[in-house]
Amino acid sequence: MKTTLRGLGVSHGVAIGQVRHMGTALLEPPAKQIPVAEAQREQGRARQAVKAVAADLNARGHLAGGEAQHVLEAQALMAQDPELMADVERRIAVGSTAERAVYDALSAYRALLSGAGEYLAGRVADLDDVRNRIVARLLGVPMPGVPDSDEPYVLIARDLAPADTALLDPGLVLGFVTEEGGPTSHSAILARALGVPAVVALTGACELGEGTVIAVDGSTGEVFVEPGADERAELARVAAERKAALGAATGPGATSDGHKVPLLANIGGPADVPAAVAAGAEGVGLFRTEFLFLDDSTAAPSEARQVEVYREVLEAFPERRVVVRVLDAGADKPLDFLTPSDEPNPALGVRGLRALLDHPEVLRTQLRALSKAAEGLPVYLEVMAPMVADRADARAFARACREVGLEAKFGVMVEIPSAALRARSVLKEVEFLSLGTNDLAQYTFAADRQVGAVSRLHDPWQPALLDLVSVAAEAARAGGKGCGVCGEAASDPLLACVLAGLGVSSLSMGAASIPYVRAALAKYTLAQCERAASAARAADGAAEARAAAQGVLSGE
Ligand code: PEP
Ligand code: MG
Repeated sequence: MKTTLRGLGVSHGVAIGQVRHMGTALLEPPAKQIPVAEAQREQGRARQAVKAVAADLNARGHLAGGEAQHVLEAQALMAQDPELMADVERRIAVGSTAERAVYDALSAYRALLSGAGEYLAGRVADLDDVRNRIVARLLGVPMPGVPDSDEPYVLIARDLAPADTALLDPGLVLGFVTEEGGPTSHSAILARALGVPAVVALTGACELGEGTVIAVDGSTGEVFVEPGADERAELARVAAERKAALGAATGPGATSDGHKVPLLANIGGPADVPAAVAAGAEGVGLFRTEFLFLDDSTAAPSEARQVEVYREVLEAFPERRVVVRVLDAGADKPLDFLTPSDEPNPALGVRGLRALLDHPEVLRTQLRALSKAAEGLPVYLEVMAPMVADRADARAFARACREVGLEAKFGVMVEIPSAALRARSVLKEVEFLSLGTNDLAQYTFAADRQVGAVSRLHDPWQPALLDLVSVAAEAARAGGKGCGVCGEAASDPLLACVLAGLGVSSLSMGAASIPYVRAALAKYTLAQCERAASAARAADGAAEARAAAQGVLSGE
């Protein structure tokens, strides 16, 4: 093997394939002057690029069909607007390069659109995409956004935003590698949802050449550049061996002495349901409903559309629990109609439940839609709020649920240390807790979950995080209520045993992790898990905590 790089493995499995880079979202070409003699040639380049982009958009529309076809064809028309082209040519005639002229002409048009009422303002994102595509073609750099490829590939990105990920074709993405991000970043979460291997926080990822063949080991965090035939065979053997080891455990989640720990799935919508069912999920522990809202940042989806989507999910889990989280917007998931755009620290601002309480009509519509969706279905619906800080937040949420007559269990996520520390008080208002360890780590360690440089602090083995889990689980147990974990901590098989030992009553994770966690739990008794949990909490750092738990469980 020529080069081995090492990052954080966040989604199991091995992927081998060619590198494709996620294109830069905004391409601003330098404003340099060209001699008049070159104007005609530049105008020709601009016309050709526009034509090629329009043809490409039409072709993609044809392939996609349905609603997507209308959107793509409308974009192709935008690209070919004669007035826009005339503006581009005018700008080139007075000394612009083709790429700068396209950039400036479409930016001017963009400013007009965004001030021209709600409908046209909603087309701004489409126009930006058209502009970026034409500019990328003229600069000869990868198209912005998800790579254009008909062949499967390994996606490389600085990091992935939820809005990017909605466009990924799971049939083409063999795995992910990101330069930024940590175990709780959305790239990691999405990789687990798709069941593809992923490595994050890999220094040098963005420098890997387009088309280079790499092998990604999502369990160890290793990335092999240009692996030889022997190395590929060895990796395939290791992957097959790991997979075979999973076959041993089946059925509901439980320790070897029969202490039940239901294993639930984290989903983002109906598309994730088949994998959850196939993995034997005992229900859904976290339905991240914001993915339904991220398609259009200017308005919430209608109540009828929401009912349709929620019902599709609820129908798939008869006699099972489905825990739906109400819209969690803000910070890395901004929505123009809901969350402020001018906050100095969006992760500490009006996000999650805070934004919903500022827009009660959005919350009411969602709760009503959930109530209608569950009508007549034999499902155990549970609804929870994100970003709850204290009892007052929990009370406000429970009141909103009662006001629409929602027949469900109401609960809250524990993502802010204050909610964990005061779990007893919070539980006076609601029936269950769900620990969002991703945000809980972010707020406990004052470490932005999107920043690779602080990913050490997102390691869910940090004893301080385990302490908070223990406090919340203990409070729930004392009150005879449930306390699950739905953050990414639940998907680490060894940590899952520790969480069970801390008194957590269910574990929810991306479907692909369920078999690994099931197999790990089935190997140990509850008492062993409790001893491992005590050993981990007694350690001084994440690595030591892991080693201590491992030592207890392997009988060292
Ligand atoms: C969490 O914060 O742990 C969580 C499950 O929510 P999300 O990752 O969607 O913020
Ligand atoms: Mg969260």
